[in-house]
Amino acid sequence: MQKTKKVPQRKCIACQERDSKKGLIRIVKNKEGQIFLDPIGKANGRGAYICKDAECLKKAIKSKALNRAFKIEVPNEVYENLLEELQKYED
Ligand SMILES: [Zn+2]
Repeated sequence: MQKTKKVPQRKCIACQERDSKKGLIRIVKNKEGQIFLDPIGKANGRGAYICKDAECLKKAIKSKALNRAFKIEVPNEVYENLLEELQKYED
């Protein structure tokens, strides 16, 4: 099997869009299991991307997309915090 360099695809976990006009923002889960918004994209941990759009995050909440992305049960209050944070970055 040939090794090909995988370019990490940034894709919104809610709407699956790769390049929305609004851009994507990173959500990270660190090794302590904390989940938070990482607007600079430099935090250590497993990352997932979502549009800078509260509607997408709401969709992710409904579909529990973050649970799938991070393979853990994400508590509701974490989603709520993310939603609150994300709204600060919306245009
Ligand atoms: Zn999206």
